[in-house]
Amino acid sequence: MPETLLSVGVLAADLGRLAEELARLEEAGADWIHLDVMDGVFAPQILGDVALFKAVRRLTSLPLDVHLMVQNPERHVAAFEGADWITVHAEAGPHVHRAVAEAKRVGARAGVALNPGTHISGVVALADELDLVLFVAVDPGFPGARFVRSSLRKVAMLRGKLEDLGASGVCIGIDGGITLDNAAEVAAAGVDVVVSGSAVFKGAGPEDNIASFKAAFGRKE
Ligand code: ZN
Repeated sequence: MPETLLSVGVLAADLGRLAEELARLEEAGADWIHLDVMDGVFAPQILGDVALFKAVRRLTSLPLDVHLMVQNPERHVAAFEGADWITVHAEAGPHVHRAVAEAKRVGARAGVALNPGTHISGVVALADELDLVLFVAVDPGFPGARFVRSSLRKVAMLRGKLEDLGASGVCIGIDGGITLDNAAEVAAAGVDVVVSGSAVFKGAGPEDNIASFKAAFGRKE
């Protein structure tokens, strides 16, 4: 099985020192950089935007993974051209298929994210066109939200469905509420990418924490 990757949520960094923070993450061994974008409509807060995306894109050569928690994402995807991955929410409007096509048109790999209460059937329908399914394991935009454990069961269900469909090349990611306390369990559920933000920056800092995440994933380095 390929190793689990760590995508670090950049909003948890000190944004006043963005260049230094991104260099530090790269040096510390982050695999991807994850940027959350919230519009105050789909998700209750306003966080992240195109200007921040452009700054992050300019300042890192790591794969950049943009997670759009915005309503009607098909209207906004093209503004994130230059991202390696663009993920939109299944619940964010009637035109998810269109948003996925837009992500590909601007040269990104396309993902669909699912909130904790959303069934996997919608992404199964799109499996042939997706590169990533991202399970959001908290209610997005509600500070202090707890990890929803049933997300791990959905990971296993989707893995089985994708194999049945011959679409096992689709990556499975998980985002929200992941710390060093549950990282091993999450990786063992069979995810390809784990997103973590504040847990990477707290305590000993990214150097130690990224090494600890990789160890929890069973990686050698
Ligand atoms: Zn995210």
